[in-house]
Amino acid sequence: MKNLIVQKYGGTSVGSIEKIKNVANRIVEQKRKGKHIVVIVSAMGKTTDQLVDLAHQISAEPSGREYDVLLSTGEQVSIALLAMAIEKIGEKVISLTGPQVGLQTSSVHKRARITGIDDKRIIGELKQNKIVIVAGFQGVDENNDITTLGRGGSDTSAVAIAAGLDADCCEIYTDVDGVFTADPRVVPEARKLDEISYDEVLEMASLGAGVLHPRSVELAEKFNIPLIVRSSFNENSGTKITTDDNMEEAIVKGIALDDAIGKISIMEVPDQPGIAYRLFSMLANNNIHVDMIVQNTNRAAINDISFTVDEDELQEALEVAQKFAFEVEAQKVEFDKGVAKLSIIGNGIVANPEISSKFFETLYKLGVNIHTISTSETRISVLVDKHISKKAMIALHDSFKLKNN
Ligand code: ASP
Ligand code: MG
Repeated sequence: MKNLIVQKYGGTSVGSIEKIKNVANRIVEQKRKGKHIVVIVSAMGKTTDQLVDLAHQISAEPSGREYDVLLSTGEQVSIALLAMAIEKIGEKVISLTGPQVGLQTSSVHKRARITGIDDKRIIGELKQNKIVIVAGFQGVDENNDITTLGRGGSDTSAVAIAAGLDADCCEIYTDVDGVFTADPRVVPEARKLDEISYDEVLEMASLGAGVLHPRSVELAEKFNIPLIVRSSFNENSGTKITTDDNMEEAIVKGIALDDAIGKISIMEVPDQPGIAYRLFSMLANNNIHVDMIVQNTNRAAINDISFTVDEDELQEALEVAQKFAFEVEAQKVEFDKGVAKLSIIGNGIVANPEISSKFFETLYKLGVNIHTISTSETRISVLVDKHISKKAMIALHDSFKLKNN
């Protein structure tokens, strides 16, 4: 649809009635410039956390179906309040839930994937000159049951709707000015980036920089929807996320740190074909997401295998590892929660020897011991001791002159 913008407001932007009124004013201002507007909202402030907490006061493992029925209520509160605030200003508006806008998903509760959108309802409302407010994070499966998309999933709702309606762009409003070169809470000198590519921000997002729901970026890239991350509290221009048209010049764009991880090592595993397959298929069957993997051959016919997982999957992963170790007669299983994954990100940086050399030099000068190294086209990551990881992050930010690029 022509002249259409999709905006998404996160939980902090609608965290109180005052903030909801502020958001309503911003939306109406855009509308009065002659735009069609679809707005996706998250639940107010910490609402979703509180709902999770309520569920867990009843059961450690409530059924996914009821969990989704509960969690989806948070967004229903904010869409109604925001619509009321817009009505009060005097614009035509309607609030709609995920099921009402035909946001279809898979049936995997708590982390459903969007399978399609029926855009008729939204387009019909827009044609009646209404501002359309849609609940993020929720959809409906083929059994007509409510599903949710995983924590932080409203970003993905917004991009899916922007893609479905062929919007000009998708603006993600939050409480920070955009995507930064590093987490400003750790690196006070971190600088806001004016532009970054989908691939780069995807690495930032999935490496713990917490800027955007990773699936929203994948979707934006796939459908070529420009994303803009900006603050709902000021008029700053934010960060524009598009395809990289500057591939020739490899520069470090940002640094990410993920310290909510754990490392599991299985010692003295037989060195035979099929052993790794057995371990990683056991982990996959338990839906455990494995990240950095290393295998060391240190003695004849015996290996050690290590891998990292998210902190909240560590316990489950350990149980699987122990079962595996018992079955293949490995010597023992160890785990380490004192590690963190530190990464530099930028298109093409791995192919640039000066960048990797400077990266390792900086760590060496700080006396940082590296446990594991892994790379992709857009990043170099190392596993280091958690206690020195923040200091290392600051040093890298300095070495790559990120504050005054
Ligand atoms: N309210 C949901 C959450 O807190 C979804 C979102 O905010 O994107 O995870
Ligand atoms: Mg969010």
